[in-house]
Amino acid sequence: MSNFNKELVQLHNIMKEQTAPHTLSEYIDKYPDRLVRDVKDLLAKEKLTSLINGDTACYDATILEDGTELFVEVTLDDSGHVEDCYCTCNTGFCIHLAAVLWKINEELNRRASPVLP
Ligand SMILES: [Zn+2]
Repeated sequence: MSNFNKELVQLHNIMKEQTAPHTLSEYIDKYPDRLVRDVKDLLAKEKLTSLINGDTACYDATILEDGTELFVEVTLDDSGHVEDCYCTCNTGFCIHLAAVLWKINEELNRRASPVLP
């Protein structure tokens, strides 16, 4: 197993630790450099085709990868911790989840910043 895959498995294990939920930025801080590059690349190529914030803390995203649509669901709790997340590619912590968490974090930061007159 490559180092990169090991790092993804580590992230997946953190994700499964229900006793200690982490915030979005805590996950993103743990992204290995290569994952950050891949996430930025995925977003730059506009593979993330939709991100819907339905319920207050529930996000549904669609990613188009090699002609296949993947669906990602992320649920945050009241304090912004990642309660649950799932991707239909079903390979544990994948680039798709990583990209959606990244994008949600960006959106939240954008919303939190004051709007200048
Ligand atoms: Zn995936």
